Amino acid sequence: MKDKKNRNKKIKCLLLFSGGLDSILAAKVLVEQGIEVKGISFESYFFDAKQAKEMARKIKLPLKVVNFSEEHLKLVKKPRYGYGKRINPCIDCHILMLEIARKMMKKNGFDFIATGEVLGERPMSQNKRSLKLIEKQSGLEGHLLRPLSAKLLKPIILEQTGQIDREKLLNILGRGRQKQMALAKKYGIKEYPVPAGGCLLTDVEFSKRLKELWGICPKCGGDDIELLKLGRHIWDKEIKIVVGRDENENKEIKKKMMKKDILIEMKKISGPLTLVRNYAKGKISELALEKAKKLTQYYSVKAREKNNVEFNVKSC
Ligand code: SF4
Repeated sequence: MKDKKNRNKKIKCLLLFSGGLDSILAAKVLVEQGIEVKGISFESYFFDAKQAKEMARKIKLPLKVVNFSEEHLKLVKKPRYGYGKRINPCIDCHILMLEIARKMMKKNGFDFIATGEVLGERPMSQNKRSLKLIEKQSGLEGHLLRPLSAKLLKPIILEQTGQIDREKLLNILGRGRQKQMALAKKYGIKEYPVPAGGCLLTDVEFSKRLKELWGICPKCGGDDIELLKLGRHIWDKEIKIVVGRDENENKEIKKKMMKKDILIEMKKISGPLTLVRNYAKGKISELALEKAKKLTQYYSVKAREKNNVEFNVKSC
């Protein structure tokens, strides 16, 4: 009797939703068996929720976006379970997202959490051991469903009670995308983002910039990280010189100016805007300023070969 009552109750799922094909399919598989699904997506200094918002709108999935930049930055600096190929602490990152989702589940009466993870798709964070570890460390043992690979994993509590029909879940394994593409066709999903991408921590060039910055200023904050996304970066000992690559970047670099930073641009000649930031104590040296001016001129095709170029130098 109790089982029958349980089976009739509409259950609610909070789904980690990136807007990638796997998370879209996870939503579809759950909705198909009558489960009420809400998405949760995250924003940090290293990724945004643009794709998640766009795809949620397309598939009509209600979505909650959480900005966890500061907490996330802390774990990126010191991950308990290490980095992947670049500077991506995927296991810690998943644990943090799921911890936040768990709190929301309790507060808002969701019955379980789901993700679009696929067993064996990512060597570091989606092998059996990591999936188990993530489930345990996020405090979600028995409450975390991976619908795309569920048949290859231990049933969660709601599968055991029959409230989730395990037979309607999937057994996708590995990195091949054929099964996902066939499912996309079945559900009529014609446009979806390419897998991976979107997280700057997996980007070779960005990882290099971040490591350099940490080597000089381990305590750097969000403003320093934001600056890494713009321009050409050149170090002069502990002084950073950032040279804009186009008009748009010049505008953005200007907005990032902080107390003690210096802005340099050429007088009368349009070209790069250069920001100079000092990570050492004391003032920015004249030598570093001269170097910044030379770089500003060098990166302007119009000015490179000219003599006696004059500069505007601004400080806050
Ligand atoms: S790729 Fe980036 S966003 Fe994705 S789990 Fe890893 S660190 Fe987190």
